[in-house]
Amino acid sequence: MKSKASKERMSDEKKVTETTEEVWSNFIHDFIDEDLAPGGRFEGKTVHTRFPPEPNGYLHIGHAKAICIDFATAEKYNGLCNLRMDDTNPTKEDVEYVDAIQEDIHWLGFDWGDRFHYASDYFPQMYDIAVQLIKDGKAYVCEMNAEEMRANRGDLTTPAVSPDRDRPVEESLDLFARMKAGEFPDGAMTLRAKIDLSSGNFNMRDPVLYRINHLHHHRTGDEWCIYPMYDFAHPIEDAIEGITHSLCTLEFEDHRPLYDWVVENAGFQQKPRQIEFARLNINNTVMSKRKLRTLVENGVVSGWDDPRMPTLCGLRRRGYTPESIRNFCTRIGVAKVNSVVEYSFLEHCLREDLNLRAQRVMGVLDPVKLVLTNYPEGKTEEFAVENNPNNPDDGTRTVTFSRESWIERSDFLEEPFKGYHRLYPGNEVRLKTTYIVKCTGCKKDENGNVVEVYAEYDPETRGGNTPDGRKVRGTIHWVDVNNCRDAQVRLYENLFTVADPEDEELLEVINPNSLQTLTGCKMEASIAKMPKDTSFQLMRQGYFCFDKDSTEDNLILNRSVLLKDGFKKK
Ligand code: ATP
Ligand code: MG
Repeated sequence: MKSKASKERMSDEKKVTETTEEVWSNFIHDFIDEDLAPGGRFEGKTVHTRFPPEPNGYLHIGHAKAICIDFATAEKYNGLCNLRMDDTNPTKEDVEYVDAIQEDIHWLGFDWGDRFHYASDYFPQMYDIAVQLIKDGKAYVCEMNAEEMRANRGDLTTPAVSPDRDRPVEESLDLFARMKAGEFPDGAMTLRAKIDLSSGNFNMRDPVLYRINHLHHHRTGDEWCIYPMYDFAHPIEDAIEGITHSLCTLEFEDHRPLYDWVVENAGFQQKPRQIEFARLNINNTVMSKRKLRTLVENGVVSGWDDPRMPTLCGLRRRGYTPESIRNFCTRIGVAKVNSVVEYSFLEHCLREDLNLRAQRVMGVLDPVKLVLTNYPEGKTEEFAVENNPNNPDDGTRTVTFSRESWIERSDFLEEPFKGYHRLYPGNEVRLKTTYIVKCTGCKKDENGNVVEVYAEYDPETRGGNTPDGRKVRGTIHWVDVNNCRDAQVRLYENLFTVADPEDEELLEVINPNSLQTLTGCKMEASIAKMPKDTSFQLMRQGYFCFDKDSTEDNLILNRSVLLKDGFKKK
């Protein structure tokens, strides 16, 4: 007979196979198909994308979406995808982040081969292009400061005002060279593109291309004191690398005319095409590096890799598999409209993945001792159990059973409530895979806390069967007192008490129960032998993994996700 749980597992299994067989397609791919078709913009060309993180923090699940789009799109078209550190902004960038970003992308299962680049490597070319633009009468040095520029940007009916716009080319060339030489303080002047002061798109109202910033850069040191703006640098980086499709998030849509203007006027032959897609938002978490850094710096979490963080290193430490994250990114789809994805869908994807591959073991989180008073003292029996009922190839292992077991405190009640089918005086339950036992009572300490539960086993029910066909409704898990390991177990909940934490309140809406640490939990001894990167299911308790701080002598487990699927119920 198949239990309800195993039927559910079967249907889960089917679903995973179905989704992984789907051919991944979306509107970006439609555009690419168009470009590759005869007469298309990139006919006969190799599709070439890039992932351009700014190395100012750790990657999060939102970046995973972009990574999957960039790398998997290249894969789909037998193309190439570059990894480029977008380090044009000299503040807050760090070598630590550069290394971590590479590690996370490799962990997801993507590789950029020998196409690893730094945007800062192109500073000299960007400078030359800027000089050429001045010579062509397409850029000029402007002496307004940021505040004046804001005040003069105009509005929908009034064009912007820019007094230095007609500065002679020679003068702009001279000032720009002196900006570079460090003659002027931060903010004293900028280089601006000469485009259209009355454009309906404010990004085209003579945007700034270069600003003065006397800052040390983590790679170029003090070589530069002028730095290119993102809107100028990014299209040049793409064009230099021969990118065909520059896939980015929706907030850059209004910048696309400027992107095209830069590529066009810088004189590149092959012009990359920018295509925008919606950012990933997930409820109950935050996803900007700035907010995540706030959490780290204020000690709300233990670090960027705290298992409550939506960072890739945090999710990895929590027990997320690369497959579950990639599957999630594929299944949320790629759209042109921003939306919020349920956190429970991410959990659903993990559960689906682990359901197929995670070994089942028994562990007791809140132990109380069960003594079988009619079981011979000193006797030990062995039972063979399947490692994963969903996957017979995973084999079996042996668990030992004796007179004393650890069971969950909540699996015994002196006075049961209606519908409680576990241990209470006079009631029978099945101790998973071993015997049917009948509760006879308990012992309490002076405070009235239960310290031992007593029961008698029925030797005729070995394997949990009832030869007389009598009904036993409850099955509980247990661990042999004589053959178990202590463990610390960390349970997690949402980091915030609200679904969409605002910036200002970030530190006020932290869920005080987001981390619960249990000690003295009792685990089947076999888990100590499992490789540290394994995920396993603790029967009835969820999927778990070893924390990175876990050692053979000091087991520390993280609960990755509960068994119950909140997403399916909705
Ligand atoms: P953050 O606000 O977290 O700092 P960002 O966009 O500034 O994000 P970058 O390092 O500049 O971070 O991003 C690298 C790439 O990842 C960009 O192409 C960006 O569009 C993409 N990206 C960042 N966040 C998301 C997200 N939530 N969903 C999809 N793509 C994202
Ligand atoms: Mg950014």
